[in-house]
Amino acid sequence: MNPPPLLEVNGLVKHFLIRGGLLGGITGRVRAVDDLSFTLARGETLALVGESGSGKSTVGRTILGLTPLSGGEIWLDGARIDQLSRARMRHLRQRMQIVFQDPYSSLNPRFSVRACLAEPLTNFGLARGTAARDARIFELLDQVQLPRTAADRRPHEFSGGQRQRIAIARALAPRPDLIICDEAVSALDVSVKAQIINLLVDLQKELGLALLFISHDLAIVEHLTHRVAVMYLGGIVEIGPRDEVFSRPRHPYTEALLSAVPQPDPAAKRRRIVLAGDMPSPRDPPAGCRFHTRCPYAFDRCRVEVPELRGGTSHRFACHLDDLPSAV
Ligand code: SF4
Repeated sequence: MNPPPLLEVNGLVKHFLIRGGLLGGITGRVRAVDDLSFTLARGETLALVGESGSGKSTVGRTILGLTPLSGGEIWLDGARIDQLSRARMRHLRQRMQIVFQDPYSSLNPRFSVRACLAEPLTNFGLARGTAARDARIFELLDQVQLPRTAADRRPHEFSGGQRQRIAIARALAPRPDLIICDEAVSALDVSVKAQIINLLVDLQKELGLALLFISHDLAIVEHLTHRVAVMYLGGIVEIGPRDEVFSRPRHPYTEALLSAVPQPDPAAKRRRIVLAGDMPSPRDPPAGCRFHTRCPYAFDRCRVEVPELRGGTSHRFACHLDDLPSAV
């Protein structure tokens, strides 16, 4: 029997209730994530890509237990984790870490880098004694390619890219199996972005980490990920191996996102598809295919019938069309 995937997300639902009126009753709900499923293998990178408001960050937060889910299941290494107590979930956080867009979310600016990195080691009882703790802190600084002298400085003394290296070192400290990178390079300059992505690729290979890389930018994930899941309005509309999704997208939304990715080879330039309008509100998603209000290929069936994810076992897409008109 095959071992279970490291992470399995099954039919995940996350709705936020909206309260209003004099009595604070429920007046609506934001359907941030609706029936979303995927798996992530040990040592694998999956990029979760979509526009702001697609629900991708909510997925990351529910996996970590930072926000309770409204339905569905989350499994880690064959054990269900979405119903664990807060105490057991805190313990499990040793195996699942997160790196945010803003390093200050995890780095206390009043602490030295040494103290920032020591905190998870102490919390999880991972380094007994000052010598063992310092040895591990130096090892972490080596892994993220920062000088050991960085230990005695404070996060604000570093550039944005260096601060993100410190945040990655902190995430690595408890030797996790999975790191969720939530827009972890979005705020960085292009050249620094590339350096951090290269670092993550190296660390992933060296340590056998699984990465769930959440990003609004398909171009960023191309050189980093093994598989891509494209999200739109709370659901996955396409998921598959990176090369297949990039070379032959099967969903019009993926096609539109890819058309904005710069191509180094002018001969391989894609036709630019500019989507009309904004993403509808997850408070009142459209009936049928949720993408039909912006899809250049929408037809009558799209407005009434929800397309299921279909296709092969590895590359799946949620569209009523078998082939995109541009690919025929
Ligand atoms: Fe477009 Fe229809 Fe496919 Fe939805 S189902 S993506 S509206 S063609």
